[in-house]
Amino acid sequence: MTVGLDTAQFTQETIELMERMGVTRASLEGGTLAATSPISGETLAMVKEDSVEETSVAIGRAHDAFKQWRKLPSPRRGELVRLLGEELRTYKNDLGKLVSLEAGKITSEGLGEVQEMIDICDFAVGLSRQLYGLTIATERPGHRMMETWHSSGVVGVISAFNFPVAVWSWNAALAFVCGDSVVWKPSEKTPLTALAVQALYKRAAAKFGEEAPAGLMEVIQGGRDVGETLVDDKRVPVISATGSTRMGRQVGPRVAERFGKSILELGGNNAAIVTPSADLDLTLRGVAFSAMGTCGQRCTTLRRLITHDSVYDALIPRLIKAYSSVKIGVPTEDDTLIGPLIDKDAFDNMQKALEAAKAAGGKVHGGQRVLSKEFPEAYYVQPAIVEMPGQVGPVLEETFAPILYVVRYTDFDEAIEIQNGVGAGLSSSIFTKDIGEAETFVSVVGSDCGIANVNIGPSGAEIGGAFGGEKETGGGREAGSDAWKAYMRRATNTINYSGALPLAQGVKFDV
Ligand code: NAD
Repeated sequence: MTVGLDTAQFTQETIELMERMGVTRASLEGGTLAATSPISGETLAMVKEDSVEETSVAIGRAHDAFKQWRKLPSPRRGELVRLLGEELRTYKNDLGKLVSLEAGKITSEGLGEVQEMIDICDFAVGLSRQLYGLTIATERPGHRMMETWHSSGVVGVISAFNFPVAVWSWNAALAFVCGDSVVWKPSEKTPLTALAVQALYKRAAAKFGEEAPAGLMEVIQGGRDVGETLVDDKRVPVISATGSTRMGRQVGPRVAERFGKSILELGGNNAAIVTPSADLDLTLRGVAFSAMGTCGQRCTTLRRLITHDSVYDALIPRLIKAYSSVKIGVPTEDDTLIGPLIDKDAFDNMQKALEAAKAAGGKVHGGQRVLSKEFPEAYYVQPAIVEMPGQVGPVLEETFAPILYVVRYTDFDEAIEIQNGVGAGLSSSIFTKDIGEAETFVSVVGSDCGIANVNIGPSGAEIGGAFGGEKETGGGREAGSDAWKAYMRRATNTINYSGALPLAQGVKFDV
């Protein structure tokens, strides 16, 4: 842990990094939105916020850009995404470091987030030649029926603080190859990484040339009112919103009201089941990373450990020991595994949840604030394990902090019931060597989540798969598989080359 660190160094470092990536110093000064580092609590920059009117103008620019962009063949659109991937490769270290400074992630996770951006760019470049429709058997002779996928329009991207850049890229890389333009409202807690990404995008667009219209990628900075302006605008047919279930409850109905489409990626309350046959060494490592990594601030963070009675005493004391010895500190320092919480609100919410757990009969290990002398304006915590008498009280909700609730089970069906017995449905996992249990868990009567893993924790995902979850997680899917379809509109075309006019279903209508 670091004592007496010269925290002003973060501000200096941030400005240098951002200038290297092409952000002007002027855009870091004189605004009203404070960009704060959770590492030290210091203000790194003051960014300009967009007004409701400016947001509307930006949407107008994106709408005009879409009308041009959709006309370009999609493999050509893929070239822009390829160039974006190149910029991200070149500036991976700088952008990764900026993610650490602004969102508090440890170095490998900051870099990992940028790698995810690179990976989705690669994926989208390939996809740009694979936006396939179907040819469908028609009942009418001399006809052909087919399905075509067209660009949708402006895609509004609202993102959360905890994946400040990757979430944009999951959406934008796909949207661009699909022929859409993007208006991005990043979290008000992470405006700087968004400015850096915008600067890197501009470099890629300049290399691509004039075929990339101005307005293809707009960034609007600010809080909820800016987000609401985007959500309510009829020129934005698709809203992809990533954040809390509370946010999704507000955004979903508003988009539906105007018959827009939404891709909702909301909160998770992810569990792992540890069965009698589990490899406990592997389980321990899987659980420790999934539950403590990113200081418990991943949507896929492991929050509930459903442990069979027969392995409880062999696993839980070891886990408690691992929790107490993990290195907490400045995330950019070597060997740090746990960085800070994002802010004081996050800390207060964590403490409230721990109090509620105690009141419900829970036994709390850890959870206290640490490093408060060194960093009075930042919030570092000892990750908490809470042994619970059952799945009650705060266990049923997502608290965005490193709290792992442990509950016991005796019967496999009961374990599945506990796993599925919460509102969220994002990610889940089982540790087992029993093939029957593993297959049941991933089957229709098993986990009800969008992600169900075997012998690997619920946290993290590869971009090749569709990412998202069910129930209060919102049902949206981003990234791989056929997630691209949500960014396009589908048309069914029937072409009559017969010279006659046979009607479907044998209908006769001779005039
Ligand atoms: P948040 O809901 O507070 O904010 C997310 C974004 O929504 C921000 O940009 C915010 O300004 C905006 N917003 C909030 N209310 C809005 C409204 N009424 N209209 C329009 N925009 C609005 O979430 P957060 O604290 O930044 O992030 C943490 C949450 O995000 C957790 O619940 C986490 O599980 C979730 N998350 C989910 C995924 C996923 O893919 N499922 C990924 C990352 C984070």
